[in-house]
Amino acid sequence: MQVHHHPLVGASLGTGRAITSYRFGPRDGNSPKVYIQASLHADELPGMVVAWHLKRHFAELEAAGRLAARVVLVPVANPAGLNQHWFGTQMGRFEMRSGQDFNRRFPEIGPELALQLKDRLGDDEAHNARLIRAALSDTLAARRPATELESQRLELMKLACDADLVVDLHCDWEAVAHLYTTPGAWPAMEPLARYLGSDAQLLSDVSGGEPFDEACTSAWRYLRGAFEDRYPIPLAARSVTLELRGVRDVSHDMAARDAQAIVDYLTLIGMIAGEAPEPPPLRHPATPLAGCEYVHAPVSGVILHRREIGETVRAGEVIADVLDPLDDRLVPLVAQTDGVLYARHWTRFATAGMLVVRIAGEDAARQGDLLVP
Ligand SMILES: [Zn+2]
Repeated sequence: MQVHHHPLVGASLGTGRAITSYRFGPRDGNSPKVYIQASLHADELPGMVVAWHLKRHFAELEAAGRLAARVVLVPVANPAGLNQHWFGTQMGRFEMRSGQDFNRRFPEIGPELALQLKDRLGDDEAHNARLIRAALSDTLAARRPATELESQRLELMKLACDADLVVDLHCDWEAVAHLYTTPGAWPAMEPLARYLGSDAQLLSDVSGGEPFDEACTSAWRYLRGAFEDRYPIPLAARSVTLELRGVRDVSHDMAARDAQAIVDYLTLIGMIAGEAPEPPPLRHPATPLAGCEYVHAPVSGVILHRREIGETVRAGEVIADVLDPLDDRLVPLVAQTDGVLYARHWTRFATAGMLVVRIAGEDAARQGDLLVP
C-alpha cells in the first residue's frame, strides 16, 4: 500500500488541507484501474466506513498477490466540507463560501480533448484509448485552480480520470440502498446492484449539474459522438454512484457487508483474482432517473409518513400527511406513480414546497436537471 497526499489550495492564511489517497496492486501503467472514493458530500459517512473496510481488504489482497487491478482509494473525498459546522450541525453538501454543491460542476473536458486529438486518433481502438487516457491526465494536470473548492474537484478528477471503473460512495437522507449509473454501463453494473441488495437502479446519461461520476465518463461519450464516423473509440470508463442508505446508517455490520459486496463484484469482473460467489437476484429492475417522482409538500406542517422506505407504492396511494395543528388541517401527499419508495427527507417538519419523498417510477416523465437540487 502506498499513501499519497495531494495538497489543496489553502482557503485562507494559516490553513491547508489535502486529499489522501491509498494505492494498491500492480505498479505498471497497463493493468486496469479501479477508483473508489467516499463522502464527497462530507456528512455522508456510511461510505467512509466502507472505505476503511476496503482499505483492509485491499491490503490483504495485495499481500496475497490477488489484485489484478490497480486500486486507488480515497476514504475522505471532501476534507473542506468535513470542517463546516453551523451552530453544532455539520453542513457537508454545499460549500458555505460559494453555496455550491460539492458534487456538481466537475469539469467536462470532452470538447477540449476533441480539439487536441482530432489529428492524432487512428484506426486502432486500443491505441485511441491510451491516447485519450494520457490526454485526460495531461489536460487536468495543466489546470491551475483558483480556490480550495476548485482544487478539491480537480485533485479528485486527476486521481479518477484514467480509471476503467469509478465508484463514488454517497448516501441519502433516509433511504434504502440505491445507485445511479448510465444506461450504457448498467449491464456491467448489474451484478454490483445484486451483491449490494440495491432497491432502485436509476439510469441516466446526463442527469444535469455535472456530478463527479458523470464527469469521469463524459469525455469518452463526447469523443465517441464527435468522431463516430472517423475513429473507433471505446466506452473505456464506467462509473457508478452508490447511495448507501441514509446518513444515520453508519455501522460496522452494514459497512462490512457493503465492502464485501464491492470486493465480490471486483472479483466477478476479474479485478481481483479468485472465485466470486453467485450474486443474489436483482431486487428491482432498473428504471430511468427521469421516472423518479419527487413528492413535495404543498403546505407547511408536520410530516406523518404512512409508508416506509423500501416499500412499493401505487399511484393514488396516500404516502404521508402534512399536519397543521392550528387549523386542524391534514393535507395528504398522494403518489402519482407506481414504484419503490426509495428515499425520504430526514426532517419531520415541512416548509411549503419542500421535497419529502422520492419514488422510483418506470415512466421517464421528467426533463432537465434530474438530481435533487
Ligand atoms: Zn451525496
